[in-house]
Amino acid sequence: MTRACNFSAGPAALPEEVLVQAQSELLDWGHTGASVMELSHRGRDFMALAAESEQDLRDLMGIPDHYRVLFLQGGATQHFAQIPMNFAAPDQVADYIVTGAWGEKAVREAMPYVQARIAATSVDKHFTRIPPRDAWSLDPRARYVHYTPNETIHGVEFQEVPEVGDVPLIADMSSDILSRPLDVSKFGMIYAGAQKNIGASGLVVVIVRDDLLERCPDSIARIFSYAEHAAGHSLFNTPNTFGWYLASLVFKWLKREGGLAVIGERNRAKANRLYGVIDGSGFYSNPVEPSARSWMNVPFFLPRVELEAPFLAEAGAAGLIGLKGHRALGGMRASLYNAVTMESVETLVDFMTDFARRHG
Ligand code: PMP
Repeated sequence: MTRACNFSAGPAALPEEVLVQAQSELLDWGHTGASVMELSHRGRDFMALAAESEQDLRDLMGIPDHYRVLFLQGGATQHFAQIPMNFAAPDQVADYIVTGAWGEKAVREAMPYVQARIAATSVDKHFTRIPPRDAWSLDPRARYVHYTPNETIHGVEFQEVPEVGDVPLIADMSSDILSRPLDVSKFGMIYAGAQKNIGASGLVVVIVRDDLLERCPDSIARIFSYAEHAAGHSLFNTPNTFGWYLASLVFKWLKREGGLAVIGERNRAKANRLYGVIDGSGFYSNPVEPSARSWMNVPFFLPRVELEAPFLAEAGAAGLIGLKGHRALGGMRASLYNAVTMESVETLVDFMTDFARRHG
C-alpha cells in the first residue's frame, strides 16, 4: 500500500493514525460486536461517544459553557440558509463580509430569509486581500455579521478575529477550524463542514452561543431549528453516526499531538515553507497580499497555462495528488490541512523546484 501526498481541498487528507484505527474497529467497535455505523444512535455506546467527543472538542477549542456544540448535517451550504432562518426575519438586516467565493455563496443562500447586506467585499481586488476594517460599512441594526475566516478557493485568511461590537459574529470556519488556537468567546456562532480538518463529509459542527438560540422562531420546521437540535443534543433525528465517530477519533488525535497551539505552529511552518518557495522561485506566483495569505489553502500559478497539464501529470506520477486549482480560479492549489505533514510539504516543494528548473 502506498499513501499519496494528498493536497486536496476537501474532502481532504485525514491523519493516517485515525484511518488505521477506524479500519481496526470497523467490524467490532469497542467490544460491541458491531461496527459503530450499525448501532443505535440512542444506545449507550454511541451516546457515550457523543458526550466524549463534545468534551474533547470543548477542551481543544476552549469552548465556554454558555455555548452549545452541535453535530449536524447538510454541509456548510445548508447552514448558509439555516443561519438567517434561525437568527433573523425576512424584513431584518444581516451584514456579510465577502472575501471570496464561499462568502458570496453564503449571501446568495441567505437572501430568501433576510435582507443580506454586503458590508465589505474585496471582489474589486479579485479576492486577493481583506478589505481594511475601517472601510467596512456595518449596519448597527444587523442581526448578525457573517464572514468566512478562510476562503478555501481564493486562499485568503483573516489573521485576526474582526471587531464588530455587540452584533453577534458568525463564522464559516469550514476550512480553518482547529488549525490554530481561537478565542471562541468572540463569536456568536461558528460552523464548519467536517471534510477538511474534522473528518469526513456529511457532518457539520456548530458552536453556538446560548442567547442566540432564544431567537430561533417556532415558525420554521423543527429540523432546521438550532434550538431544537440543541435541546435534543444533536439527536433530534438520526445523526451521521460514522462521521461523528471519525470526528471523535480526529479530536483524540489532535489532543495526542499536543492541541491547537502545537498544530498552529506546525501549520504556520508548513505554509511559510510553501509560500517561501513560491515567492523565491521566479516561476510560481501567488496573488494574495502576504498579510491575508491562508495557512490552509495555497493557490498558485505557473508562468504559462500550457504547463499546467504536465505539472499535474508529473505530480501525480510522483505521488502528489489533489493539486488542481478550483475551476473558478484555475491554476494550482495545495491545501495544507492539519493531517498534511511537513514531510508531504517537503516532497511538494522538492517536486516544484525540480519542475521549475526543467521548465523555467
Ligand atoms: N464554506 C467553505 C469555506 C468551504 O470551503 C466549503 C466547501 N469547500 C463550503 C462552505 C461548502 O461546504 P459543503 O460542500 O459541505 O456544503
